[in-house]
Amino acid sequence: MALIIQKYGGTSVATIDKIKHVAKKVVETKKAGNDLIVVVSAMAGETDRLIELAHQIVARPDEREYDVMVSTGEQVSIALLSMAIQDLGCKAVSFLGFQIKIVTNSDFSKARILNIDSEKITNELRNGSIIVIAGFQGIDEQGNITTLGRGGSDTTAVAVAAALKADVCEIYTDVEGVYTTDPTICANARKLERISYDEMLEMASLGAKVLHTRSVEFAKKYSVPIHVRYTFSQNTGTLVTKEDEIMEKVIVSGVTYNKDEAKITIVKVPDKPGIASKIFKPISEANINVDMVIQNVSEDGFTDVTFTVSKSECKKALEVIKGVVQEIGAADVRYDKDIVKVSIVGVGMRSHAGVAAKMFTVLADEGINIMMISTSEIKISCVINAKYTELAVRVLHDAFELGEHMVSEE
Ligand code: ADP
Ligand code: ASP
Ligand code: MG
Repeated sequence: MALIIQKYGGTSVATIDKIKHVAKKVVETKKAGNDLIVVVSAMAGETDRLIELAHQIVARPDEREYDVMVSTGEQVSIALLSMAIQDLGCKAVSFLGFQIKIVTNSDFSKARILNIDSEKITNELRNGSIIVIAGFQGIDEQGNITTLGRGGSDTTAVAVAAALKADVCEIYTDVEGVYTTDPTICANARKLERISYDEMLEMASLGAKVLHTRSVEFAKKYSVPIHVRYTFSQNTGTLVTKEDEIMEKVIVSGVTYNKDEAKITIVKVPDKPGIASKIFKPISEANINVDMVIQNVSEDGFTDVTFTVSKSECKKALEVIKGVVQEIGAADVRYDKDIVKVSIVGVGMRSHAGVAAKMFTVLADEGINIMMISTSEIKISCVINAKYTELAVRVLHDAFELGEHMVSEE
């Protein structure tokens, strides 16, 4: 008997008919002789609706109350799915995060899971029930409700799989698997049979929202096999697994884009020791994540410092920076939300030169200006104007021969 975790995303439970379809799939898996835990997101659009409601009250809602609010979408979907499963003659019981003690830290709206009470879940499984768990939410050590960040239900699923040493964590979504790039914006994106944890981690953190980044971190740390697949077919999807289990060797395995970042520039910063720390310490103390940072060559003892933060934290970052600008004697602060970070990812880059140059040339040939660049061993990212997103993704996808009809490089 296998222990299977299945996670269904918002589009998979968007309507009552879809919930009934999911219930059928769940019951089939149970009847095939498996133990089953199901993690569910809120119905499609519901979390957006809740966030919008909060913002109708205030621009920057209290962080604790925000999480109390946005976690409620999942309460509806777990109960509906449990009812639908029961209606098909199987035992099902739903739980919110706090009921099975998904303990997180207190970073509201981006909390990290610290512990899960696996005993409680195991007891319910012994009972013969299908367990239906609310994704995206937890409870901190003080008893406050927390949420894990947009798309966080994937992380709930993989964390539960890790805690219970499940055989597989199946992530059911609205596409057939993980593709070489977002299939909704690139028609010849190719579905990958397998992808390594490291590549998936980069792709997720660089914007491929098919999996929440933290879910891949958990999967890698605890060797949880993830199977990403389509809710409305029986087809095999993509297996996210260890690198040595992957046959296909390519230099670049995917192209991603992330429109969720904003660029902030501090103009005419005095170029002297300690300045970077004066800028970034208060930002980190405000718990704002900084992604890319560049500093211009100094002219007459002054330089510009540019960095990116998530769009949702841009306002907060600007407030923090206002004070710093005066303190360090900089001239001005500017921001730009109309940007996108386009990236290419592949473990094969470790051993191949010239990949970055090719990326820059491909963008230049389309007249696309690169504002910022960052690289790591297995990725190269460029910040460009958001209006070029689709064009950039397509030309890079073609240039690195990732499409459906292309042959991979050895
Ligand atoms: P769910 O609601 O099931 O969690 P998401 O919307 O979070 O689904 O993630 C699925 C979406 O991820 C797809 O509809 C697709 O547009 C997007 N996506 C972005 N990059 C990729 C990629 N490389 N492969 C597959 N899907 C991707
Ligand atoms: N409902 C949450 C969201 O929309 C979590 C998730 O779907 O994974 O972000
Ligand atoms: Mg998702």
